[in-house]
Amino acid sequence: MRVFRTVAEVRSWRRQLAGDLGLVPTMGYLHEGHLSLVRAARAADAHVAVSIFVNPTQFAPGEDLARYPRDEARDLALLEAERVDAVFAPSVAEMYPPGFSTWVEVEGLTARLEGASRPTHFRGVTTVVAKLLDIVQPRRAYFGQKDAQQLAVVRRMVRDLDIDAEIIGLPIVREADGLALSSRNVYLAGDDRRAALVLSRALALARRMSDGGVREAKAIRAEMEALIRAEPRASVDYVSVADPDTLVELETIDRPALVSLAVRIGGTRLIDNTILGAE
Ligand code: AMP
Repeated sequence: MRVFRTVAEVRSWRRQLAGDLGLVPTMGYLHEGHLSLVRAARAADAHVAVSIFVNPTQFAPGEDLARYPRDEARDLALLEAERVDAVFAPSVAEMYPPGFSTWVEVEGLTARLEGASRPTHFRGVTTVVAKLLDIVQPRRAYFGQKDAQQLAVVRRMVRDLDIDAEIIGLPIVREADGLALSSRNVYLAGDDRRAALVLSRALALARRMSDGGVREAKAIRAEMEALIRAEPRASVDYVSVADPDTLVELETIDRPALVSLAVRIGGTRLIDNTILGAE
């Protein structure tokens, strides 16, 4: 497995490859969710590259950039075991050299949900993903449904900018008790780990209501919020029942619906989602 630190190294490796290349962009501290993307790439593409980059521009001041968990040696061992061909793990200066001043911004979609709470987040995401797609030139790039809005925003960017890569979205990998895997779960100590189950429980409640014939989105949002309010360690950031592509809130569930939520558990902000009517 090759480990590259510079754009120039990746480009010269890429130029001599024959056959499809799959890219899995990550911020490292890898778990089974990331590895599910790597395995999908390994199954579909002749060559697999993984990027590890904790992208500072998608964190706002006061967010967890400085304490975001990192363990590159462990990540590299996991990726080696998955027979990954190349890892791109650049420095911040390599990706954002002095004088950096160009941004890729998707409008509209990014104002909702995560974007409403984190107004500069998606500009950082789309800028770094556009750079990674241009540097690595993959045939396919793999993203998790865990970050449903990110997936929708990246799909829109690739379409709007005619970026020649196929965006593959893959299902959320969960712990046995329902908690969606996340690098940030490491922040959940003691009672917070148990309290974090309110997210998947609220989603399960939405599914039961929908399966039981409830079509009114407002009723589903209200029941989910009530369930979360019953957990004293939790506070709701948003609960949404929206169109999965436009992210516009639905009144009536008469088509597939993205049910998503962001909840603070103590000092940790967690997100989760499910799609109703598509599984
Ligand atoms: P991150 O390192 O958190 O930026 O995540 C890198 C990629 O892994 C993103 O496309 C995420 O959506 C995906 N991912 C993170 N957690 C999960 C999970 N539990 N299941 C599936 N994909 C995930």
